[in-house]
Amino acid sequence: MSTPQIRATRDVAEMHQRIGADGHLPDRPSWTCQACEPGAYWPCAPAQNQIAEAYGSDRVGLAGYAGTLYYVAVAERPADDPGELYERIVGWVRRFITSNTSSHLASSPGDER
Ligand SMILES: [Zn+2]
Repeated sequence: MSTPQIRATRDVAEMHQRIGADGHLPDRPSWTCQACEPGAYWPCAPAQNQIAEAYGSDRVGLAGYAGTLYYVAVAERPADDPGELYERIVGWVRRFITSNTSSHLASSPGDER
């Protein structure tokens, strides 16, 4: 029997084993990067790239993972503004997906007739 929070924490830990090769992992509960300069928020740019690469074209999986991170972060940082945490932990996913999608759409040679 495990609470949703315990399950979410376990999901996050499993993903960290896949993406944490160069140490860009969150120092919790501060949610700062362990590899970047002290106090740098996680996910930093290298961590965002590693997470996005791990999910590849699985945008739903990526969004679900970001949602899980957010869930855990809100639970661990109850004094923080949830809106700021959302923008920091989930917001980059939307920007990442949007920019990748539009760049694919913008650069598809062969479609022009
Ligand atoms: Zn980092």
